[in-house]
Amino acid sequence: MIIVDLSKLKGEIIRVGRLLIRKNLTVGSSGNISVRIPGEDRIIITPSGVPFRTMLPEELVIIDLDGRVIEGKKKPSSELPLHLKIYKSRPDVNAIIHAHTIYCSVLAATQTPIPPILDEMIFFIGGDILVAKYAPPGTEDLARNALEALGTRKAVILANHGVVACGRDLEDALETLVRVERISQIYILAKLIGEPKRLPDEVIRREIEAYELRREGKSL
Ligand SMILES: [Zn+2]
Repeated sequence: MIIVDLSKLKGEIIRVGRLLIRKNLTVGSSGNISVRIPGEDRIIITPSGVPFRTMLPEELVIIDLDGRVIEGKKKPSSELPLHLKIYKSRPDVNAIIHAHTIYCSVLAATQTPIPPILDEMIFFIGGDILVAKYAPPGTEDLARNALEALGTRKAVILANHGVVACGRDLEDALETLVRVERISQIYILAKLIGEPKRLPDEVIRREIEAYELRREGKSL
């Protein structure tokens, strides 16, 4: 039996939310964070419209995978459908961060995907980084489009909106977010001095195979 320390999980979400603000990865209450409660069909998610800077653990909301509120007085994040859809189809994902980081948002605004140009993209993200088809924030359509473009990878850009980063735990989701923001910055800078070159096809194939093996071991 897994013994779950809910207050520790909530504390980690609050800490990461403040870090997003401190590191200029988002602003105000933009973005949302969730964690799957280990061994359960429930998640903890940040509330809607509460700034990360002042968010309190008791304001977090516990929801089951069918979207029913189990605990919490606040309204859950408006992007709840997005989080639920990913948890339901990706058992390897245990934490999700959605944010409006600057360089990912530049790619979102121009609907520009990132081809596999760096070895670290496949090892850590699972391949190229695609842009999900546009749908208005908070909708089931946004959730469906995001999951479709995410596939088996750990990150996806939402057209004209921002980015979604996944991880085996919250620390890993944060690392994914920081990494995909750095890769976006590198891609944009690379485009300024030339045409970024794809990795060789053989390398892409081999590295995706290795990524999938790690993923099927449920350890991203
Ligand atoms: Zn958003």
